Amino acid sequence: MLDLFIVMVTERTFVAIKPDGVQRGLVGEILGRFERKGFKLVALKQLTPSRALAEEHYGVHRERPFFAGLVDFITSGPVVAMVWEGEGVIASARKLIGGTKPLDAEPGTIRGDLAINIGRNVIHGSDGLETAQFEINLWFEVDELNIWTESDHHWRVEA
Ligand code: UDP
Ligand code: MG
Repeated sequence: MLDLFIVMVTERTFVAIKPDGVQRGLVGEILGRFERKGFKLVALKQLTPSRALAEEHYGVHRERPFFAGLVDFITSGPVVAMVWEGEGVIASARKLIGGTKPLDAEPGTIRGDLAINIGRNVIHGSDGLETAQFEINLWFEVDELNIWTESDHHWRVEA
């Protein structure tokens, strides 16, 4: 008989701590917020993105006046790239991150608490399901994504 393994993959999103967040020593602070919320870390690595990677990642902004500066900035040093998993994680991560302009980001959010300038807003998070899939595939190989279950999983989600 054929054994069928059905892996339930819940929602995943791509999050990156930008070079300003790494340089300012905010990696632990930011990781902690996602951990404490209850999401599961399935991939994590530090890298200085190539220009090609940065341009593809921010491809939707290619025609915008800030594009060249944004690519210069994001390739200027190490970034901490992550994949987080959990119920509603895409929208929830955006809420944890806060508005793009730190002035509009509510206190309590990452940008609201830790940033003052739109061009140095510390963190990136995918803005929807398709973007999340695109960005995870862009930044990670399949074998870098860890399938595991938290020991306290049933304390995070019902049934
Ligand atoms: N950005 C910028 N100037 C602008 C708008 C955006 O430097 O006027 C940068 C900013 O770092 C932002 C990124 O471009 O995080 C991507 O912009 P987007 O509108 O996608 O914001 P996000 O999804 O990061 O909130
Ligand atoms: Mg965006």
